[in-house]
Amino acid sequence: MTDVVSAVFGEPDKPGNSGSPGDPGSPGDPGPPAGPAEPEPEPEPLQLPPSIVVRDVRAAYGRIEVLHGVDLVVPPGSVFALLGPNGAGKSTLLKVINGRMRPSSGEVLVGDIPVGRSGPEKLVKRGVCAIPEGRGIFPNLTVRENLRIWTYRGGIAMKDVEDQTFDAFPRLRERRRQMAGTLSGGEQQMLAISRALVTRPKVLLLDELSMGLAPLVVNELYELVGGLAQQGITILMVEQFVTTALSVATRAAIMVHGRIEQEGTPREMADAALSVYLA
Ligand code: ATP
Repeated sequence: MTDVVSAVFGEPDKPGNSGSPGDPGSPGDPGPPAGPAEPEPEPEPLQLPPSIVVRDVRAAYGRIEVLHGVDLVVPPGSVFALLGPNGAGKSTLLKVINGRMRPSSGEVLVGDIPVGRSGPEKLVKRGVCAIPEGRGIFPNLTVRENLRIWTYRGGIAMKDVEDQTFDAFPRLRERRRQMAGTLSGGEQQMLAISRALVTRPKVLLLDELSMGLAPLVVNELYELVGGLAQQGITILMVEQFVTTALSVATRAAIMVHGRIEQEGTPREMADAALSVYLA
């Protein structure tokens, strides 16, 4: 597994590029005084696995509030499983953390980045990457074309991306000229993970990786997720396959009706999840 992950990530990051809060270009900085025609500096990627802090977040679709004051701390470098019944607000919370949805109140910090001030594009450049429910790949493009699109964002040569991807997922090499929409569910998820890794993320937000997949494939994918965490990525995942998710998680929480109801170790949350799902 470690070999697979190293293949995906290549050499470790160069030293001397710490990405501290004081770095120029950090969205949290007050920045220079406003003036005309000053190009915005490129956002600095995060170098260390960051924490995710959610403070009293409320969010609504129109007038219907679905997050009612969510507080959550995901420790740096952890694999955090967010569990809970359908409609609890888990995907909505991921959208807020990913900058795709504005909360009506409250605050989200990813490392030194206040998410409210960064759009999803800036977050990707700084190393915050989401694989949304439904995978977020382009079904009418081939596997190679999907990867090529992501090289533009990651600023990495296509050859390197192909080598990394096909070393990690040999099955995708065989399918490289195939339309992504015609891949099996597991292969599509492999492609979604590959394209997320092109951006060399420090945070991965995974929404129901298992959707529509056979349990064996789900286990294979989560084995990879566990390996990614060992390489220094903070992972927050929403998952219905409770047992599989808890087998790789280092921390977990249960969300019910737009609030975090319980939080603890995977072992503690296994029993709690059972009672929530049975209730
Ligand atoms: P699931 O596991 O079923 O996806 P979830 O815990 O991820 O559930 P969300 O998808 O965040 O829950 O949904 C929370 C609530 O918000 C639900 O009542 C859902 O119907 C509603 N909702 C989600 N997306 C939208 C939307 N785009 N417009 C309006 N309401 C929405």
